Amino acid sequence: MLPEDIQGDLTTVLVTEEQIQERLAELAAQIDADYAGKDVLLVGVLKGAVMVMADLARALSIPLEMDWMAVSSYGASTKSSGVVRILKDLDAALAGRHVLIVEDIIDSGVTLSWLRENLITRGPASVEICALLRKPDAAKVEVDVKYVGFEIPNDFVVGYGLDFAEKYRNLRSVGILAPHVYE
Ligand code: 5GP
Ligand code: MG
Repeated sequence: MLPEDIQGDLTTVLVTEEQIQERLAELAAQIDADYAGKDVLLVGVLKGAVMVMADLARALSIPLEMDWMAVSSYGASTKSSGVVRILKDLDAALAGRHVLIVEDIIDSGVTLSWLRENLITRGPASVEICALLRKPDAAKVEVDVKYVGFEIPNDFVVGYGLDFAEKYRNLRSVGILAPHVYE
């Protein structure tokens, strides 16, 4: 799906399809170098990370495995407590492995900081994070993210895996959703 297919639903295209692919190639080159010769497991966080996982994994030259987790934060009022529920756990065991969490976006950082701590308890050799997007203004929790695609403003965005009410995930670029869509 292209921005012109949903004309009026976006106020701005923030990151184009070409920019995403270019940036993923740069990140992949870094990751290739950092993880050469290591046993790498990419952990994708469903559902938003599906697109970035698919494209990043294919941009990488190193051998790797992929696994998936689904998590959900408890109600908005308890979000700051950092309580996250696992809806689907990993199939893989992590002991001794180099884990790279792949995420679509870091907003408050609550989900990822909880997830990293959870995975560390399973005895991996390392746990790092790669996120396509980060909203620096929104960070409530300090999360050390080794690989970041783009810093974006504190607006609600959709596309490239990111949804609004499950729609727009198949948009090829990332854009700011127009207020009339959700108001
Ligand atoms: P955090 O725990 O860092 O606040 O954010 C967790 C999740 O909220 C993200 O993985 C993502 O699913 C969702 N999220 C945060 N910001 C946005 C946004 O701008 N657009 C969409 N579609 N989802 C977002
Ligand atoms: Mg997500």
